[in-house]
Amino acid sequence: MKKELLYEGKAKKLYTTENPDQLIAEFKDDLTAFNAQKKGEESGKGALNCQISTQLFKLLEDAGIRTHLIETIDANHQLVKKVEIIPIEVVVRNTATGSLSKRLGIEDGKELPFVLVEFYLKDDALNDPIICDDHCLMLGLVEDRSELEVLREKARKINEVLKAFFAERRLKLVDFKVEFGKDSEGNILLSDEISPDSCRFWDMDTGEKMDKDRFRENLGNVKVAYEEVLRRILEEK
Ligand code: UDP
Repeated sequence: MKKELLYEGKAKKLYTTENPDQLIAEFKDDLTAFNAQKKGEESGKGALNCQISTQLFKLLEDAGIRTHLIETIDANHQLVKKVEIIPIEVVVRNTATGSLSKRLGIEDGKELPFVLVEFYLKDDALNDPIICDDHCLMLGLVEDRSELEVLREKARKINEVLKAFFAERRLKLVDFKVEFGKDSEGNILLSDEISPDSCRFWDMDTGEKMDKDRFRENLGNVKVAYEEVLRRILEEK
């Protein structure tokens, strides 16, 4: 089914297929942090993220959020709709931590008074700088202001659905990053992935970090944590 490698990113490879509107996404075992200054590999991580992201995208589809996912092919491959990625990393935060705490001096772990949505430019060479609406327009990343509102609205809806879903499973959704793409008809679809590589999950009972921070901070048991996230996702409620 795979034809040729179209693109290789830090965590995924994209291949063309016989259908020009469809691509195959391969989830890699590579782990990177701090804009790829720290690199590692965790055997089986790609398959875990593929399964986690598939489950979450299905959940979001059921909640009315359109995504690029067509179907899972095997343990670490998905068939997806071809989209043009909007080069904005949309970050949603419920709790202060990471770069927000560092940049604005907000205490780590502090609950935010409202859900914060931020835009970052998807550009590794520039170190993914934070950008405002005017920057997005000036750089031509979107067509108009209303498109930014659509991104914000979708990001908030995704947060609502995921936050409630994970709370039932005793995981606090601290923050996460999503990317959107446009299909050939101009529809804005949730793309890329949602996994412990792109989210922060804190165990509600033990406070333990259950995401890529285990790799960033050398806490060990990265794969064990990802497996536990998948196990809880698959729990019937
Ligand atoms: N994030 C991501 N990719 C990036 C930057 C951030 O998936 O290139 C996610 C990260 O895992 C976290 C959220 O976005 O869930 C907010 O990250 P933050 O800005 O705090 O960055 P960090 O502290 O990781 O540098």
